[in-house]
Amino acid sequence: MSRIAYVNGRYVPHAYAQVHVEDRGYQFSDGVYEVCEVHDGHLVDETRHMARLGRSLKELRIREPMSAKALGHVLRETVRRNRVRNGLVYLQVTRGVAKRDHPFPKDDVPPAVVVTARAIDPKKSAKSAENGISVITVPENRWDRVDIKSVSLLPNVLARQAAEDAGASEAWFVDTDGYVTEGSATNAWIVDQDGRLITRPAEFGILRGITRTVVVDLAAREGVEIVERPFTVEEARKAREAFVTSATKLVMPVVKIDDAVIGNGKPGSIAGKLRELFYTQAEIAP
Ligand code: PMP
Repeated sequence: MSRIAYVNGRYVPHAYAQVHVEDRGYQFSDGVYEVCEVHDGHLVDETRHMARLGRSLKELRIREPMSAKALGHVLRETVRRNRVRNGLVYLQVTRGVAKRDHPFPKDDVPPAVVVTARAIDPKKSAKSAENGISVITVPENRWDRVDIKSVSLLPNVLARQAAEDAGASEAWFVDTDGYVTEGSATNAWIVDQDGRLITRPAEFGILRGITRTVVVDLAAREGVEIVERPFTVEEARKAREAFVTSATKLVMPVVKIDDAVIGNGKPGSIAGKLRELFYTQAEIAP
């Protein structure tokens, strides 16, 4: 089946989906994005993704391209046209097309919008979750506004490739004090020996993951104690459990950090429970 992309107001065959050479996203990474999970044909946590998109745009002073309602329609239509039941929908908004020059364009340039969707086999993710994944640690080398979900992801790309090269699935950034910030595309969590969930506060230094927020609420609902504080790599290596969260990985157990096996080397029970109950807490759009 041929894929369809939404590009600046038109639905076009994926192979012909193109943006202008002077799109500021292409030349300056001057844009933001969201990735929303599609579960059983429904968007997951659309409201929160739209709110975070609005915040990212505001922080970068990029105009909202259309209302959240209209964007929601485009997301659904792209999912529908690609016949995605389980997978993801990707939304990117850049500052638009203008003659290459660093300052914002003076004219009233409309933001450029691209939406794509693709299916992901849920069995694959379930299989990874059964075995757990390995992560490596890399020095934090990103700018200090990673709370903005910008398409400027070069350090994340390099970190993730380093993980692949090492036979691991994710890389955790570690700051100069030895504290884990977050993964290249996930938030990082551990469970200490007393069964407490520990994850870094999302005020600054990490992206406030939507999955992270849902898991914080879910843990509270289930009576699992949660402490929002930074944790070190040393603590993580000795943790009872570790896991990562993101819209596409959900709650994904981590069984190895660099050369250290976590717990008994099998996915932990708290991660398993949070994964199992995830959709009872997430917002499932009609
Ligand atoms: N941190 C980073 C750097 C990410 O790219 C992502 C994935 N978008 C996350 C955390 C997890 O965010 P979410 O749960 O909203 O997918």
